[in-house]
Amino acid sequence: MSFLQIGSKYPLPRRFKDCTYSVWTEFVDLVTTHKPLNLGQGFPDYPAFDFVPSILAQISDSKNDLIHQYTRGFGHPRLVNVLSKLYSKLINRSINPFTEILITCGAYEAIHSAISGLIDTGDEVVIMEPYYDCYEPIVRLFGGIPRFIALKNIDVNSEKDAFSSKSWQLNRNELENIFNEKTKLIILNTPHNPTGKVFIREELEMIGNLCKKYNVVCLSDEVYEWLVYKPAVHVRIASLPGMWERTLTIGSAGKTFSVTGWKCGWLYGPDYLIKNASIAHQNNIYTYCTPIQEALAICFEKEIPKLDSPDCYFQNLSIKLLPKRDAFMKTLINTGFKPTIPDAGYFVVADWSKQSSKIDLSSEKDVEEDYKFAKWMTKNVKLLGIPPSAFYSKEHKNLASHLIRFCFFKKDETLNQARDILTNWKKSLDGCKL
Ligand code: PMP
Ligand code: GLN
Repeated sequence: MSFLQIGSKYPLPRRFKDCTYSVWTEFVDLVTTHKPLNLGQGFPDYPAFDFVPSILAQISDSKNDLIHQYTRGFGHPRLVNVLSKLYSKLINRSINPFTEILITCGAYEAIHSAISGLIDTGDEVVIMEPYYDCYEPIVRLFGGIPRFIALKNIDVNSEKDAFSSKSWQLNRNELENIFNEKTKLIILNTPHNPTGKVFIREELEMIGNLCKKYNVVCLSDEVYEWLVYKPAVHVRIASLPGMWERTLTIGSAGKTFSVTGWKCGWLYGPDYLIKNASIAHQNNIYTYCTPIQEALAICFEKEIPKLDSPDCYFQNLSIKLLPKRDAFMKTLINTGFKPTIPDAGYFVVADWSKQSSKIDLSSEKDVEEDYKFAKWMTKNVKLLGIPPSAFYSKEHKNLASHLIRFCFFKKDETLNQARDILTNWKKSLDGCKL
């Protein structure tokens, strides 16, 4: 039998309808092929905090042989205990480490286990655009029907150099109209990737009130919870009155301790919701890697006593990142982009409309304009960013047609290189005849 015949027996199953390789796969490949300066995927290009990897080294030298064997499937006891201590304080209620927390393989698996444990065929799931790209395929995989609602930049026509991430707003009427008796879940992402918006209490109350009215669960992706620039404040929706009962909150060690390769995540919430996600998890990966969980437990144990002091890692992270954010915003503004200044996270979405008449993207074959631009830039300017239409449904991809996302959690040297690349590019554009 030929490969062709075998292949034709195995089309992608219907449950992956319309799926193809994700933006991450495509753009990581572009890094290898074109060797641009990489401001794409979100991770630091330097050891942001040395104490974290050094704890992993201690563990690998440890005399405790069991640290290299399976641990409890729903979470290593030392890690769930310390997370319960942390979030009990932050949520202001006592969280049971063994029934109200689940440790997962990254926030990705937390999203997957929560959705697969809560959604049945025909259930509607409210997703706000732009959204972290895996929400939509995972909802569809389990028979859910995504109902999209786009955050709109209400200052889109302003003359200013930059937008505030607060300009990205959820319209109350649109949100109210999307909720109905079939709504089973709403996925919230605060602080938000890619805009850097931090949802304020009133917005969370508006979402929470609809959840209560329609008896809906909120899956709150809070992986950037420690990356908030003052005066913005991260409010955990689970801490609002009547919301603990109907919220599953997601965290990520990769984002918390700036070690994305550790790929550990977690969910916390009431036991009846955690149980559903746990059943999904045990039939998927069963348990997450023990030495990483042990190392994380030690990192948290070290930082929790310092939680309110300025030398705590969690407080330090955004203080260290702020000058990088500001320097990179300046670069973008000076080189003809119009960025949305993030209140959190380490991404910036920038509008490149001003440059669009000066460049010829016809060599790029993609359908979406922002994909064409991001690929063209990678090849011709040697700078890689992510096309944000990957974070929109098919119907709304045009909302991102003139946007690009950059990650600024990079060495100063890398950000200086980005500045030089963009400055030279601008000079060449300004010199070109239109
Ligand atoms: N949610 C959001 C909003 C993200 O930006 C990411 C990427 N860190 C994830 C989930 C996945 O996180 P992890 O790497 O822990 O799987
Ligand atoms: N969450 C990271 C980002 O938004 C990484 C995404 C990924 O690699 N899947 O860049």
